[in-house]
Amino acid sequence: MLSVIIPAYNEEKCIELAYGAIQSLLAENEIEGEFIFVDDGSKDNTYEMITRLSEEKENVIGLHFSRNFGKESAISAGLASVNGDCAVVIDCDLQHPPEKIIEMYRLWEQGYEIVEGIKKERGQEKKMHSFGAKFFYSAISRMAGFDMANSSDFKLLDRKVVDVINKMPERGFFRAISYWVGYNKATVEYDVKERVDGESKWSTVGLIKYAVSNISSFSTAPMQIVTALGIVMLVISVIFGVWALIDKIIGRALEGMTTVIIITIFIGSIIMISLGIIGYYIARIYEEIKGRPRYIISSSVRSTRKNPPAK
Ligand code: UDP
Ligand code: MG
Repeated sequence: MLSVIIPAYNEEKCIELAYGAIQSLLAENEIEGEFIFVDDGSKDNTYEMITRLSEEKENVIGLHFSRNFGKESAISAGLASVNGDCAVVIDCDLQHPPEKIIEMYRLWEQGYEIVEGIKKERGQEKKMHSFGAKFFYSAISRMAGFDMANSSDFKLLDRKVVDVINKMPERGFFRAISYWVGYNKATVEYDVKERVDGESKWSTVGLIKYAVSNISSFSTAPMQIVTALGIVMLVISVIFGVWALIDKIIGRALEGMTTVIIITIFIGSIIMISLGIIGYYIARIYEEIKGRPRYIISSSVRSTRKNPPAK
């Protein structure tokens, strides 16, 4: 059985569309499916739509978060409820072409344990966002040590991989974790389509925050940059120090106020940036150490009409 995990935040109109599109494809290809809708604390009727779907259809599970915890948390919750032999994560807005699920499933049948969806075209996106995404993926790929260009959350995972990810205590970045775990991988390219309804939940500031938090969850390189900057500053200050001494010896000491000011400002700002970066990591440690749950499920529904679980 294939578990289809669909995170949804304010997607009331998309729930049925997504279910319909995916279910008919699965039926056509004789793949048994289970739908796990994770309502990420939507403010509209998303959960009502999921509940209705679970009453009408077979094999629909709905989880409702007590508030909006973000897509990463929604994916975690979905993964924790997987009953299938493999699971695919797909956006509710059908921007990830559902027909690719079949392609992914066939690759899984051939023995691949992770099938990554790779974006061929980024679809209609703000110029700044696609530039940011490019920069972000090349940075994180270099820092984390694996190539994640154009990756997305659209992927199919074998049961084994789902179990491994479920056991990981950290609140990581799903896209990167699935690279980090290793396993036998295949890729499927897809074009990002237009959203069927509603609008993207991402703002520019949100995306920047997301990028920074993901980089820090996967790499300590920014902290090492701090060390490197410190060393560079040390070298520069030695040079200036010697220079100042020579000035003193030949009696030109009063000049050079500008240099002093520049150096003070420069060092000051580097120290502040460095403390900020270190503080950011400490904040992350604090977040992890508190051990709060990644999400809170306030209610859940499950189809009562259920297919006999065929292996
Ligand atoms: N999503 C979510 N929680 C959030 C934001 C988004 O579960 O806080 C879901 C959303 O419902 C959709 C998917 O994540 O199924 C992708 O979101 P969106 O389409 O807004 O992002 P984009 O496609 O613009 O990257
Ligand atoms: Mg989308």
